[in-house]
Amino acid sequence: MKKYALAIHGGAGTILRSSMTLEKELSYKNALQLAIETGELILKNGGTALDAVEAAVMSLENNPLFNAGKGAVFTHDGTHELDASIMSGIDLSAGAVAGVRGIKNPVGLARAVMEKSEHVLLSGAGAEAFAKKVNAEFMPDDYFFVQMRYEQWQQAKASDSIVLDHTVNPEKKFGTVGAVALDMNGNLAAATSTGGMTNKKHGRVGDTPIIGSGTYANNATCAISCTGHGEFFIRSVVAHDISCLMAYKGLSLQEACEVVVMDKLVKIGGEGGLIALNTMGTIVLPFNSEGMYRASVKQGEASYIGIYKD
Ligand code: ASP
Repeated sequence: MKKYALAIHGGAGTILRSSMTLEKELSYKNALQLAIETGELILKNGGTALDAVEAAVMSLENNPLFNAGKGAVFTHDGTHELDASIMSGIDLSAGAVAGVRGIKNPVGLARAVMEKSEHVLLSGAGAEAFAKKVNAEFMPDDYFFVQMRYEQWQQAKASDSIVLDHTVNPEKKFGTVGAVALDMNGNLAAATSTGGMTNKKHGRVGDTPIIGSGTYANNATCAISCTGHGEFFIRSVVAHDISCLMAYKGLSLQEACEVVVMDKLVKIGGEGGLIALNTMGTIVLPFNSEGMYRASVKQGEASYIGIYKD
């Protein structure tokens, strides 16, 4: 029996102590705590890594603070187009959805694509038709209305810019959410969910639903969930690159993360971070931005919650 481990993120970016109120900090910490406890409960009871990452991500999707599910940012057209993915390290099975509207928990739909379709990635109207078939929960447009996101969109529209979550505050944050887990059977899983970029063009898809870029899990190497400027993460095939550095070059998880996040991404201007875990239960939470909402827990140890560079 392996000892379980779990890590989650709620986005990376310019998250500065100076632009944070104590009250806001506490709400983020409470939300991260709730999500990590939700996932941990599953692992503690002998549940699978896949169930744990799905449940932890759903908890974050249901919280308006994060750019996923309920709190998803506005597109240029004033809609919400959601991306999500999930992957099992046991057999590399994976599922993802891109540009879906009205889905309460896109990560659950990604899992349904993995388990109930013969495909890996479904997008737009086709994904929504599939969602109806598998009885995924739909919500009306006003469920996704969050005043803060609306204001961000108005500012982005006024300057005709396409911005990552919170860029228009002075605080710049990529609010995607994700989780990686190791269960007591020694299996890894990863999941990620996002609303993408504020004011993004209709149809724009980021790294989150791209297996190997925003999400990857393989029992032979690691489980990864990313957050950051998606275009750069796609071009760098970030999650799979870390796995490859471990598999082909023999790097440790820590070393592989350093190379990809602190060197390769930085060189092309890719701001962001990720959460990573291997079957030894090693957790690495690297980011090249000012901060990253993150939390982790290992069996028999107290949980860790972080926001800034410590
Ligand atoms: N990676 C996401 C995207 O580009 C954004 C984020 O991490 O918040 O869609």
